[in-house]
Amino acid sequence: MLKILINPDPILRQKAKPVTNFDDKKLQKLIPEMIETMQKSDGVGLAAPQIGESIRLAVVTYRKKTIVLINPEIIKRSLLKEWGEEGCLSVPTIYGDVKRHKKITVNYIDAQGKKQCLQAFGMLARIIQHEVDHLDGILFIDKAKKLFTLTPHESND
Ligand SMILES: [Zn+2]
Repeated sequence: MLKILINPDPILRQKAKPVTNFDDKKLQKLIPEMIETMQKSDGVGLAAPQIGESIRLAVVTYRKKTIVLINPEIIKRSLLKEWGEEGCLSVPTIYGDVKRHKKITVNYIDAQGKKQCLQAFGMLARIIQHEVDHLDGILFIDKAKKLFTLTPHESND
């Protein structure tokens, strides 16, 4: 499992660089490691800057499916926006309501190096917008209406 950087780590604030070599060995090793790290942390998304790699790569999980997004680009955004609660593995115990576009269209490269285009609604659209923000050095706490803290229960049983 990879180590997740915690806010205010400066890497989380950098604009990540596009991936240029899709069969790079390091990249192909990183993808399954990021998926494993996301799953073991009970996250629904993880962006490469969160594990210390400032590259435009994110993994997302939705309805038991995992999506690998390389160089994701949101090319269409609905006018309609909605508020929803968010948290982040890099901002532990803090949650807040963030306004996001209800529907987006995103172009990206998949783990096989193929171009993909995805239309996403609701929760999936929200997760993708959150992850693309990470690639631009933006955290949900920058956009949240009000933040609140939920401390995990102290007992471990
Ligand atoms: Zn996050």
